[in-house]
Amino acid sequence: MLMFSFKKCKVENCHTYALRDRDICFHHSLDKEAVIDNLIDDLKRTKRIENTSIVNAEFENVDFSSAFIGFSNFAFCTFRECTFNTSSLISNFFDYAVFERCEFKDLEARYNVFSGAMIIKSDFSGSNLILSSFMGADCFQSNFNNTDLYFSNFSLSKLISVSFEDSNLKRCSFQSALMRSVSFRYSNPEEASFKGARL
Ligand SMILES: [Zn+2]
Repeated sequence: MLMFSFKKCKVENCHTYALRDRDICFHHSLDKEAVIDNLIDDLKRTKRIENTSIVNAEFENVDFSSAFIGFSNFAFCTFRECTFNTSSLISNFFDYAVFERCEFKDLEARYNVFSGAMIIKSDFSGSNLILSSFMGADCFQSNFNNTDLYFSNFSLSKLISVSFEDSNLKRCSFQSALMRSVSFRYSNPEEASFKGARL
């Protein structure tokens, strides 16, 4: 399987992955804005982001819709008012990322990791989100309505005012999750695991 380069940043004692086509990481790049502008220009032109590692960057009002985003690492990035509608997201890392007012409608997504992410006022409705990890994520005022969450993992997450209506929860885990005002209307929570969850 393709994956972002495991080449590490050349700066001494930096263990972060280097940017694609460079020998340093985003943090150690002196032209961070140019790095992000290039990424967005490439995205506009090709509708693809692949094998890219960009950690702790900020994206605001970026249109990632109808794109293929795969085998990439966006850990600790912040996404504000970005749209990913009708995109394909395959095997990406969004660990500890922040998503605020983002749209992920009608995604084709699998094997993505959102562990420890903060998801605020975001909309995943109509998406195929199978085999995704939201372990330890904090979700507020967001919705996963009409989604397929087969074998996805929300264990140890905090879910406040989140809805999973008319969704497939087969083999989905909510183990030890903390939940307030969570709706599972028209879904199949009996096929999910809630062991240790606090409702
Ligand atoms: Zn570095």
